Amino acid sequence: MTINAPRGTNDILPPDSFKWQYLEEKAKEICRKYNYKEIRTPIFESTDLFIRGIGESTDIVEKEMYTFKDKGGRSITLRPEGTAPVVRSFIENKLYGKALPFKFFYSGPMFRYERPQAGRYRQFHQFGVEVLGSDNPLVDVEIIKLGIDFLKEVGLSDFFVEINSVGCKECRPPYLEKLKNYFSEVNQELCGDCKRRIETNPLRVLDCKVESCQEIIKDAPKITDNLCDKCKDDFEKVKNGLNTLKIEYREVPTLVRGLDYYTNTAFEIKSDELGSQDAIFAGGRYNGLIEEIGDRDIPGVGFALGLERLEILLEGKELDIESGIDIYIVTIGESAEREGFKYLNQLRESGISADKDYFGRSVKSQMKDADRKNSNYTIILGNEELESGQATLRNMKSGEEFSVVLSELSEKVSDLLDN
Ligand code: ATP
Ligand code: MG
Repeated sequence: MTINAPRGTNDILPPDSFKWQYLEEKAKEICRKYNYKEIRTPIFESTDLFIRGIGESTDIVEKEMYTFKDKGGRSITLRPEGTAPVVRSFIENKLYGKALPFKFFYSGPMFRYERPQAGRYRQFHQFGVEVLGSDNPLVDVEIIKLGIDFLKEVGLSDFFVEINSVGCKECRPPYLEKLKNYFSEVNQELCGDCKRRIETNPLRVLDCKVESCQEIIKDAPKITDNLCDKCKDDFEKVKNGLNTLKIEYREVPTLVRGLDYYTNTAFEIKSDELGSQDAIFAGGRYNGLIEEIGDRDIPGVGFALGLERLEILLEGKELDIESGIDIYIVTIGESAEREGFKYLNQLRESGISADKDYFGRSVKSQMKDADRKNSNYTIILGNEELESGQATLRNMKSGEEFSVVLSELSEKVSDLLDN
């Protein structure tokens, strides 16, 4: 019986893996420009971290976590997201004692037990940023701009920004009361999930995708009409900042993050080309999260971007990706193969990507192989070439040929590649 990859996971094969390297490289370049530094946290954490850091009444914690007992009986969870681990690490390593804010980025696999479909998998990859230690609304703008720069850098332009503010621990509780009262009156018309959420997490009712609920949500009290002065002012600053950077946005009063530690700005960057899984990246402020996990009142803000969704959007687009090799060495006969192997090694040592045949194939088949491997140049080595110490380099794209002294092969190839 054959064994397949688990449902909802993907193998990333060449040449696609070049696309992934390209995206990760671009993300790193942007982060360098913005002075965000990489953090790598474990793939698994204590389950409690996610229960506290994401919240018990969220989809993730309610039904999507890969949780298991390890051999020591500890409850372990494969990370479903990156924020809680970053905050855990920040606290554990006492980074709050250093110059704030800390600006991190991460990139790697996340795990959620979801119903697999286009743009939704059980192992997927996120690139994300987190800024810990500043509640300046301009930081919110900075990360939105960073994410947009990334999308533009890889050639996307067809996306839009939605923003909202979900208030703070001062102004949200009275708003939630209003919301509960409103929804309680129309309780009968809401879906089962929403009926339950009125009590556990009324904000999340606003997020419901069921059409009949949408009708009711339309007329619900809006959080942005119920913000305290500080939150109102911060939200204005975010919008002003976006205006200053000429970033267009829509205000969407039903855009929420469901939990108490998410505060102020919430945003999503979406594309119409993604169907129902339309968010490319999403994030917001979590000024209460560090206190929840680590008893310290330190503000934070971040986003996470789904790399698979980005990949879907990039399908068919021409990317600046080099997946071929510089030169392929074709050899005729055993002694030429041995010599060729030596040259191959020399080329590689001087930084040139090179390959050869390992099946003793005919010259014609080797040339085909060079083509398949997308080689810029080929060189044919037979007894004649070895005796004369000279061979012919062929540019596979233009057909141009160059005579080369074998003892200067690497230099010659380097020169040609430089031009
Ligand atoms: P959704 O509403 O699509 O379930 P979410 O609110 O669960 O999104 P976040 O936790 O905010 O998503 O994750 C940020 C981004 O990660 C999403 O915008 C999306 O691009 C990506 N993402 C989330 N879950 C998945 C998944 N199962 N497969 C692929 N990408 C995902
Ligand atoms: Mg989800």
